[in-house]
Formats: sequence, C-alpha cells, structure tokens
Amino acid sequence: MSAELIDGKKVAARVRDEVARTIARMPVKPGLATILVGENPASAIYVASKRRTCTELGIRDLHRHVPADISQAELASLIIGLGEDPDVTAVLLQLPLPKHLDPQQLIELIPADKDVDGLSILSGGRLAKHVPGLYPCTPLGVMELLDSYYVQLAGTDVVVVGRSNLVGWPLAQMLLQRDATVTSCHKGTRNLVRVCRHADVLIVAAGEQGLVDASFVRPGATVIDVGIHRTAHGITGDVVFDEVVEVADLITPVPGGVGPMTIAMLMRNTLRAAELQGYELANPAPATG
Ligand code: NAD
Repeated sequence: MSAELIDGKKVAARVRDEVARTIARMPVKPGLATILVGENPASAIYVASKRRTCTELGIRDLHRHVPADISQAELASLIIGLGEDPDVTAVLLQLPLPKHLDPQQLIELIPADKDVDGLSILSGGRLAKHVPGLYPCTPLGVMELLDSYYVQLAGTDVVVVGRSNLVGWPLAQMLLQRDATVTSCHKGTRNLVRVCRHADVLIVAAGEQGLVDASFVRPGATVIDVGIHRTAHGITGDVVFDEVVEVADLITPVPGGVGPMTIAMLMRNTLRAAELQGYELANPAPATG
C-alpha cells in the first residue's frame, strides 16, 4: 500500500499564517535584513522569495544588495552596522559568497539574537547546550513537519543521513532534545543500508540524488527527504520516491515536502529574534474605565 504524503506546502502555509497573525498584533514590526552579494542567479531567486514572503507577512524588508567585488572589511562593516542598528531585528547573509570572502568570519559578526539562519558558532553552541536561541531553518522545518503529522519521537529510533552544519548536525541535536534515539550517518558510515533499515524515522540530507531506495527502508517507517536536485525532468530528492512510497507509512514528496518549510521557518525565526530582543508580541489591552 502507498504511504501517506506529508504536505509541506500546507504546513508551511499554516506556519506563515500564524506568523502573520502574531505580527499583525505587534506594535513594532520586526525587520529582516537580507544581504545579497553579487549576482549569483540562484541566490537572487532565493533572496527575492524571502523578501516577498517578509512583505506578505508584515515583516519590514530591510534588504541590502552589494557588489560581488566588495571587500571582506567593507562587508564586515555593513554587517556590524546592521547588528548594532535597533531598527534591524534579523540579519541573513545569503550564501554562497564570492570566493575571496570568508563566510564564517562574516557570520560570526551577526549578533546571536539576530542570527536567523542559526549558523554562527554561538547559535550552534546554544543549540548544543539546549539554550534558547535561533536555530537553522531547514531542520526546524523538518521538526515542524514531524510534529504536524504527530510522528512519535521520544524513544523512537531516528536515523539522519548527513551531518552538515546546515542540516544534519542541527537536526540530530533537535531530535535528541526530543528524546529520540538518534544515529548520525555520513560518508564514513559502514553499511548504510543496514543502519537505515533500523530506523522508525529515516531522514535523508546527503545531497546525493537517489541514494536511498526501498532496500534502505523498514516497512512502515516515516521517510523525510531533504535533498534537492534540479534535473532535466524536474526537481527530485535523495530518495527514490516511486519505490520508497510503496514501503513507508509516511513520506515527504520532492518537491512539496521539506522545501516549502525553509522560508516559513525563516519567518518564524525572525519573529523569534524579535522575542529574544524583547519586542512586545501584542498591543497592550486598552485600559477599561
Ligand atoms: P552537505 O554536502 O553540506 O552535507 C552532506 C552530508 O551528507 C555530509 O555530512 C556527508 O558526509 C553526507 N553524505 C553525503 N553522501 C553520503 C553517502 N553516500 N552516505 C552517507 N552520507 C553521505 O549538504 P547539505 O547542505 O546538508 O544539503 C544536503 C541536501 O539537502 C542537498 O541536496 C541540499 O540541496 C538539500 N537542502 C535542502 C534544503 C531545503 O530547503 N529543502 C535546505 C538545505 C539543503
């Protein structure tokens, strides 16, 4: 029997709606400064989409576009300025950067309470230590999907394929915090099929198209495919969907699964940044006589 599909578009729309309703009640609206360096076409599309969503939800769009030949020092000074500006709630440096720039050094200049991508060392440390903070958007999106479909995590065997700073590692931390028994796999993992077949929940974020076929999946498992690959036949993932859908109980399609969640969680992170900075989340109730 075919698995139930996890509808990322629907969950993302609900998250965006919740964020918009909260922002509508805030006396001071949060503002997100996206920084686009140069003309990378994929980055320009991602940033345009983030800006459009900001505006739709009532977040102030404080975008900065700088030339590709900007120096490390000039970009550093822009980021420090945005970090110090009380009008700016959140700062996002769109990656990748031109080769002459050092991304991690620049990310470290974003104050942790404005680091809506959650990629600074301090944000990573807060996540590792279970301290409130801003965590990476795609893993947050995966957690939101699992919760929206009432997938049991406490005591569950979860296998995460991939341990990048952007997806696999933060996701493993979030799952551990929810009392899942987490196995992190990577390129050095021996017998990946055997490890994956053990999973109640299998999350694949390896960046290898079609890595996971039906032989990797325990019948009845939940399968989350984070991979995105643009091919001549459209967008596909790390999972061989047509095979795995016949074995799993619950599965994300690609596109339409994890993909739509990332920007929705960025919007929620911007709201969270406002909260961390002490913004009022609602107008005070009018005084009654
Ligand atoms: P990455 O290249 O930084 O990390 C890949 C990880 O997978 C590494 O830890 C590596 O060791 C592991 N890996 C690779 N091949 C493997 C194999 N054969 N067996 C076991 N482990 C293997 O990639 P990333 O940034 O984490 O992204 C992963 C995928 O997720 C990519 O396809 C990317 O496009 C996609 N992605 C999607 C979204 C989204 O919004 N849906 C966001 C970020 C990334």
